[in-house]
Amino acid sequence: AHVDTLILDKTGTLTAGRPELIGIETFGQLPEDDWLALAAAVERDSEHPLAEPIRRAARERGLSLADVSDFTASSGRGVRANVDGHQVIIGNRGMLSDAGVDASALTEERTAGYESKGATPLFCAVDGQLAGLLAVADPIKEGVAETLQALRAQGLSLVMATGDGRGTAAVIARQLGIDDVHAEVMPDQKLALVHAAQSRGHKVAMAGDGINDAPALAQADVGIAMGSGTDVAMESAALTLVSGDLRALLRAVLLARATMRNIRQNLFFAFAYNSAGVPVAAGVLYPVFGVLLSPMIAAAAMSLSSVSVIGNALRLRHRKIDRPA
Ligand code: ADP
Ligand code: MG
Repeated sequence: AHVDTLILDKTGTLTAGRPELIGIETFGQLPEDDWLALAAAVERDSEHPLAEPIRRAARERGLSLADVSDFTASSGRGVRANVDGHQVIIGNRGMLSDAGVDASALTEERTAGYESKGATPLFCAVDGQLAGLLAVADPIKEGVAETLQALRAQGLSLVMATGDGRGTAAVIARQLGIDDVHAEVMPDQKLALVHAAQSRGHKVAMAGDGINDAPALAQADVGIAMGSGTDVAMESAALTLVSGDLRALLRAVLLARATMRNIRQNLFFAFAYNSAGVPVAAGVLYPVFGVLLSPMIAAAAMSLSSVSVIGNALRLRHRKIDRPA
């Protein structure tokens, strides 16, 4: 059976993977530059796409970054480390509550404005106190909506699975016309989503770029990593889209389907020659028509079957796969 379900991570696949800082707010006593420098120091060693705009903001302000110790990354939540004797945390609400930080100042209204723009609010806490908010927007890649439409036209059901917050995920999904959205999912929940679809009898492709996607990429019938993403994602996946471009995924689907069609045609050629030739050679026509297969014609038929198969397979080279047939 064909792959009929495509689960997509939000970052790198769907969005450009080059997030921009669109807002910064300070809570508490620490001046903005101070907590931003601490946050950027923690993010210095992070390979998450959300880390880059934070490092860039600190660079643009000419802030110097102190040394970091005890760095830990919580997949799907955020990062933490000791910087200059301070315990610094940066991540989502779950990251704050795990660390017991009082986030009551962060009302839903406070972050709804960013979420409604499809931006992700990140929070920074220093020594257990909420210090600031960074709103990071990763715009949808050009042409993605059209590519998703073409994938849907190939009969794929699209599902979005992201560690990002519900509000942000819903806005991005709506812009892309995806109505099956799973937000705030941890890596094991991405894996569980793949499992669940498979146990309902679906053939599942999963596209992702992060460490958090790796278990799901390995479990999927076809795991598709983005070349722009992490190494572990590429190692877990069957297929890597080197350019990280979703249009390449559409091409891969169209090429795979054209190849399967071609294989079925080739099986027909191989069986047709043989199922006609073998009984004749065995003498089914002899009693009535006196016809037997001369070895010369049998050899020619044998070769013709190979020539037809190879000739048909070579047609794939000229198949246009930039768009559906
Ligand atoms: P996705 O599934 O969309 O790729 P992740 O699971 O990688 O998302 O991350 C989920 C959320 O965890 C992010 O939206 C962010 O709030 C938080 N997060 C993860 N890593 C970091 C980091 N290095 N810095 C700040 N926040 C992070
Ligand atoms: Mg990701």
